Amino acid sequence: MEQTEKRELLSLTPSELEAWMLSVGEPKYRAAQLFPQLHKGVSPDEVTTLGKSLRQKLAESFSYHLPVVEQKLVSSLDGTVKYLFALADGNCVESVVMRYDHGNTVCISSQVGCRMGCKFCASTIGGRVRDLTPGELLGQVIAAQKDLGERISNIVMMGIGEPLDNYDNVLRFLHLVTCEQGLNIGARHISLSTCGLVDRILQLSQEALAITLSVSLHAPDDETRSAIMPINNRWGVDELLDACRVYFARTGRRISFEYTLIAGKNDSPALAEKLALVLNRHLRTREETMPIHVNLIPVNEVDETGFRRSGKAAVATFAKVLESRGIRATVRRKLGADINASCGQLRRNRQNQT
Ligand code: SAH
Repeated sequence: MEQTEKRELLSLTPSELEAWMLSVGEPKYRAAQLFPQLHKGVSPDEVTTLGKSLRQKLAESFSYHLPVVEQKLVSSLDGTVKYLFALADGNCVESVVMRYDHGNTVCISSQVGCRMGCKFCASTIGGRVRDLTPGELLGQVIAAQKDLGERISNIVMMGIGEPLDNYDNVLRFLHLVTCEQGLNIGARHISLSTCGLVDRILQLSQEALAITLSVSLHAPDDETRSAIMPINNRWGVDELLDACRVYFARTGRRISFEYTLIAGKNDSPALAEKLALVLNRHLRTREETMPIHVNLIPVNEVDETGFRRSGKAAVATFAKVLESRGIRATVRRKLGADINASCGQLRRNRQNQT
């Protein structure tokens, strides 16, 4: 198809757009006119200040697609908005906007599907279809902001997919979304969540980015973790936490840990003790003392997995054990409970219908 061969305008950096303008005999300032508009969700053929012949040249060389709202659910409890977005090739991903006092946060997807195989997760059930392009990563933020008519100030990469399994595109996206000429979202307002690709965590530690890294730990030892997260067979808990220590030492940015509580699998007080021990051992060494924060998330029940969420008492005890060992633990507030806002489920429902 002709359309897919064209380069995506939204994946270009300001200097690449400038270089292209010069290559077709246009002045550099044309790029400065166009770039901010693209990132507001204005298609290039609507930017009339560019003149007709330039708009034509752009249309011949590039594609410009924003994700299209396929389905939109708004929580009547807390205003959380969940989108099922259709991409140019018909694949769908999910994005969720959460309303906090400090502003709107969007949770975006990084791949169509996922190949990490975590046993409790709905996004990985059908495997990975493809990576999202930088323009599609960015497009979710732009499309959500445009639809809401409100500024989005924070991004979490916790939707469908494993961001570090789509490393180059994610990195380019981070560059684009933090551009002053574009959405200008500060790196400190961006979190990236990973199931623990150690080689990529180490690579990321060299990029000098001020983003926040979240690590989905979910278990304190290899036996428990490998049973629910296949990635642990590649890199075990010790190796992962060691990479976290290196990441902190190199970037000075603390890492937050996600711990999904599944009844009878990883929620005993003994495992909480073990978790405290292993975190303290790796991250509070004589050289480094990283403030440790664990987010406890009672698992969202997914029909296909059969896993059940831990009871309130088990969650409270788990948190208390961590706190007693000097580790801050918070229980994640469930947002959008009435719209099934945990990721991967809308896309699956849609797949099951077709
Ligand atoms: N692949 C990345 C980011 C996407 S998942 C990662 O693994 O971190 C975002 C978070 O949601 C992860 O912590 C993941 O383990 C968690 N998660 C996945 N399915 C869940 C479920 N059913 N209930 C609660 N948390 C879940």
